[in-house]
Amino acid sequence: MHELSIALSLVDLAQEEAGRQGGRICAVHVRIGPLAGVVPEALLASYEMASFRTPLEGSRLVIEQVPLVVFCPSCQAQRPLDSVQSFCCPECGTPTPQVDHGRELELVALEIET
Ligand SMILES: [Zn+2]
Repeated sequence: MHELSIALSLVDLAQEEAGRQGGRICAVHVRIGPLAGVVPEALLASYEMASFRTPLEGSRLVIEQVPLVVFCPSCQAQRPLDSVQSFCCPECGTPTPQVDHGRELELVALEIET
């Protein structure tokens, strides 16, 4: 359960921040890319388990999924990809190993009630 360990560290981070700011957390916003290897549904379920009997119990986990974006060396431009199956520029077909977005797994915001 890879997602559970992620959820546990999110809960830890959020609790620390809530402690610093003083207040109750009502929502935790995260950003996840398709290459982060996280299944959003599994993370939501894990979050509920991870926050159980913590000050975060009952708070919401809000997942923002970021698109996969690669950099094409031929076009010298960023190109969004629809699938993670092929890392080729959708405009010119050049294979590109450079992923600019898609590996994100980050805590972006906390909603805190004071
Ligand atoms: Zn291209």
